[in-house]
This record gives sequence, structure tokens and C-alpha cells, in this order.
Amino acid sequence: MVRVLRSPLDAVVCTLFPSSCILCGSHLPQLSSAPICEICWTEFTVPDGPVCARCGDALKEPAGSLFSELCRRCRVVPPDFARAVAYGPYQGRMREAIHALKYDRVRGAARKLGSLMALAIAQMAGEAPAEMLVIPVPLHRAKYAQRGFNQARSLAAEALKSLRKTHPAWRLQLASKTLMRLRATDSQAGLTPRQRRLNVRGAFTVTDPAAVAMRHVLLVDDILTTGATARAAARALMQAGAASVRVATLARASRIGWSKNDREEISAIEGAGFEEDAPRRDSRRIYAGSSRAETTF
Ligand SMILES: [Zn+2]
Ligand SMILES: [Zn+2]
Repeated sequence: MVRVLRSPLDAVVCTLFPSSCILCGSHLPQLSSAPICEICWTEFTVPDGPVCARCGDALKEPAGSLFSELCRRCRVVPPDFARAVAYGPYQGRMREAIHALKYDRVRGAARKLGSLMALAIAQMAGEAPAEMLVIPVPLHRAKYAQRGFNQARSLAAEALKSLRKTHPAWRLQLASKTLMRLRATDSQAGLTPRQRRLNVRGAFTVTDPAAVAMRHVLLVDDILTTGATARAAARALMQAGAASVRVATLARASRIGWSKNDREEISAIEGAGFEEDAPRRDSRRIYAGSSRAETTF
């Protein structure tokens, strides 16, 4: 497997003069804004099996069981969002494509990934309100300065372009300055589980509450991992008076079957412990748990 390009210069050159796919290395037949080949685009896995009706996480209970609608975590500590959808799991080619977008600044990938985001959002067509304010999860300003763009905003903008064609009646309005991230939540090493929980909980504020009051909100992000970010952002929006919050992400990392490396990467992305929002009495057990974690949510 060819490693994803690391230098920004390489990324720029690759975007301007693409010759090979950044994911598999195969030759690209023509100049393309996204240096990813057609085969790689088809290699994103789509989810199968039952998922939680609220947060979209994979359900481990057999279908038809008493609680098969919701995961344990949503039953115990319901989130402030009504529903979360994703295009597919955060693994394989999808993980590489998101890395290329975020860390290698291969911004051409945003258009195609945005069209996949549109497919995720379209899962809510018919069920979600006809008018929604679309709010990308913001980066902390230090991270924004470092990265130079917010991948969530790029994905949201591209997804809306696509949805305007496929669902012209759906009134989705991008509002990328409405929510602000007060703290960088990716440097929580050394904090106790309780400190982490509190840290992510107040991480967002609504800059213009009048803009969200009584509005239905669609929160957009690239990845949903522990759900801590989505939960904290949804809480801030509901407290500011939003009528409802829904969440759409490109990919989601299921809590089932995380390896140690996965947990470290996810911790770096989201900065939250795996225990956030869980009842306190359970927190130590959940925090220490690995593959058993899903049984304690
Ligand atoms: Zn390829
Ligand atoms: Zn759930």
C-alpha cells in the first residue's frame, strides 16, 4: 500500500498535476481535481447490520430484542441530538481519504467526499425538517491557524451543492460562523476521566443565539468517534434555543472492536475519553475497558 503523501508541497503538486492515485498509487488517466482513482472511490465500505436509531452506532443486541432500537448508551444517557447518520465506517480507504483531506490538505478530495456526505444526509430526507441550518463543527482557532481550513466546512459546502441538485426542495442553509470552539480538546493527556468529560462538555458556544433560536440544525463533521464532540456541540445548540439538532458525518468509528492504535488515534482526533457522558459510577470501568467498552455504554 502506498503511503499517503505527507508534505503540503507534494499535496499541492499532486492536486495540480495528478498522475497517480494518492491512495493506491495507480495511474490516473486524466487531470482530476481529486487525485483518487475511480476504483478507490468504490472501495469505501458501507455499513451493514443493525444500528442505533439515535446515534447510528452498531448494535450488538440481536435484531428483534427488546432494546434493539437504541444502543445502551443512548438509553442510559440520551444525547441532545435527535439522530446521527454517517456514510460509512472510519476504516480502510475512507480513513486514508479523510487523512489526505485533513492532514495533507488534498482539498480536491473534498468535492467527492462531500458528495458522499450528501448521501449520508439524504438518509434523513423525509424524516428531517424541510428547512435546516447546516453548521459545520468548528475547529479551535489554534488548530484552524495550523490547518488553514476547516474540513467540516469544506465537506458541508460540497454536500449542499450536491443536495441542491438531488433534493431541490430541501432548504439547507450553511451557517459556519454560528458555533465557536472555545477550547482545543485534543490535549487532554493527564486529565482524569471526569476532567475530560467536563473539558469537552463546555467546549462550544453559540456566537449568535438569535440565529439558531427555534431553528432546526444539522451539525456536520468529518468523523464521529466517541460522540463526545457531537454531544457537546448539540448541547450548546439546544441550550441556545435550537428546535432540534441532527448530526451527519462522513465516517464513524464504531466503538466495537477498537484496537489500542485506534483508541490512540481516536483520542487524538476527538480528545475525549471513552467514558464521557456515562454515569459516573461506570466511568472507571468504561475508561479501562477496550473491546468490552460497548457492553458498558
Ligand atoms: Zn486508487
Ligand atoms: Zn445510540
